[in-house]
Amino acid sequence: MSAKVIDCVAIANQIKEELQKDIENVKEQGAAVGIATVLVGNDFGARMYRGQVERFCGEMGVEYINANPPEDAHENDVVQIVKDLNNDKKVSGILPLRPFPEHISDYAIINSIDVNKDIDCFHPYNMGKLTLGEVTFAPATPSACIEIMDREKINFEGAEIVVVGHSNIVGKPISILCLNRNATISTTHIFTSMAGNLEKHTRGADILIVAAGKASLITADHIKEGAFVIDVGINRVKMLDESGNPILNEKGKPKTKTVGDIDFESVSQKAAKVTPVPGGVGAITNMMLMKNAIKAARIQSGLV
Ligand code: NAD
Repeated sequence: MSAKVIDCVAIANQIKEELQKDIENVKEQGAAVGIATVLVGNDFGARMYRGQVERFCGEMGVEYINANPPEDAHENDVVQIVKDLNNDKKVSGILPLRPFPEHISDYAIINSIDVNKDIDCFHPYNMGKLTLGEVTFAPATPSACIEIMDREKINFEGAEIVVVGHSNIVGKPISILCLNRNATISTTHIFTSMAGNLEKHTRGADILIVAAGKASLITADHIKEGAFVIDVGINRVKMLDESGNPILNEKGKPKTKTVGDIDFESVSQKAAKVTPVPGGVGAITNMMLMKNAIKAARIQSGLV
């Protein structure tokens, strides 16, 4: 079998068009759509993500604010920045970009976000609502996975879905979102692997969602014939030649490339459907964040 590779970029572009109309509509009704990111210091991954948010806000005509206190900022000062953003009428959504420096607690920052501006569902109040099935803001990456499954017309009721990864921002909420739709969920994680049980679970999956951050974790041996595999992972790995040696760039340093958590070659021979990396879940994640920022603008303006 050769899997259908889901064109996530095309899905993202289609959502972008739909959202563009929504943005105009909200603005006409007098609401402001705007996203503020809060990045403390200079973390490379967080800076990359910040750049993406700035870019798609610019492309979609949405206000963007870059709050970027220095690495040694006091926790209270960062909390104050968030509180100021809570009161800023131009900002409908606030996105904290982690990791924060060690002296700053995630909870202090997250708990200070106005729950109606919490567009990636970090706040315990919104996570609680998500768990109860009363979702205001579904977190962006898990929503992107749901969007892909919806567009592939998956019937969730009774579907055997296995999630690899149980982080608060990806694995746990995607499990809850699928459970809310009456799928049968197994959530696996590092301790499942350490107990030698990962394959036992993943081979039973009709739909396998992988968010572990480990390149080539999932091979053809881990999946059921005809499974639908959604690869959330993003990893930088060295490019190798046919003999397994690193390919060097003109400066003599190993060239790198972005891959997901699945061994794409082998998995796509056995799966029915698979998402690629790059050009996969991440493209749709950005649009889910924008969708939440628009919803937040509606909520704050009393339009819903
Ligand atoms: P995390 O490090 O917080 O969590 C990783 C999870 O994977 C943990 O639950 C851990 O137990 C599990 N895990 C690690 N090694 C494992 C193994 N060998 N076997 C089974 N489980 C294992 O990471 P995260 O923030 O949840 O992100 C996961 C991946 O998804 C990363 O690669 C990240 O870059 C990527 N990501 C992608 C998007 C996107 O939009 N595409 C968004 C967020 C994160």
